Amino acid sequence: MTAIDKAKILIVEDEPAIAELISFAVRSVGCKPVAVSTATDAWNLLLWQMPDLVLLDWMLPDQSGLQLLSRIRESRQLRALPVIMLTAKGVEEDKIAGLNQGADDYVTKPFSPRELGARVNALLRRKIPERSQSLMKAGAIVLDPVSCTVTVENRKIDIGNAEYKLLKFLMAHPERVFSRNQLLDKVWGSLVAIEERTVDVHVLRLRKALKDKDYLIKTMRCIGYMFSEGKDK
Ligand code: CA
Repeated sequence: MTAIDKAKILIVEDEPAIAELISFAVRSVGCKPVAVSTATDAWNLLLWQMPDLVLLDWMLPDQSGLQLLSRIRESRQLRALPVIMLTAKGVEEDKIAGLNQGADDYVTKPFSPRELGARVNALLRRKIPERSQSLMKAGAIVLDPVSCTVTVENRKIDIGNAEYKLLKFLMAHPERVFSRNQLLDKVWGSLVAIEERTVDVHVLRLRKALKDKDYLIKTMRCIGYMFSEGKDK
């Protein structure tokens, strides 16, 4: 189940050696890199395939990274996309311009791949926690996004792909209620046509997999489901 669940990172960088180094950094934190070398290619790709995060170089051959960033922020569909700007410029004015234009973070070249990887992970954790590769813990449950395993009281449990994704999403947003419709959209994706009651089936299976920790998945009558460490069902 590994590949499906990895966060997809779009790399927009025209220098092949640097693009390769960034891809390495992205892979090393368990994400899937997709690299393009122009703003035009990046825009075309964004229109039909939404990544989870963009690593955007400032100097590109056809258009500046800053221009592409402002197009992203003006688009209703892409507005919320997490973006980290990359640049050789260490000039403070450029950094401010990038952040003013809506960059979420900023990395100056030359960068260390480990630092870049850590920043990618930190931004994912902040913006879309269910796509982050950090270990998630709640009480006796530990979910490891790198190995895609779940342990309850240090014992690995048998869990299906859909139940794993559902648990990961709910654990990433504890104490928040989600409707069946929201869960379908967030966990299965809005392009998949499945009925709302399918969610109930997967919740049932998830509770079964969690055994005596099944109470962590709460049913909120008429609303939906919530992950909560509270004891009451
Ligand atoms: Ca460049």
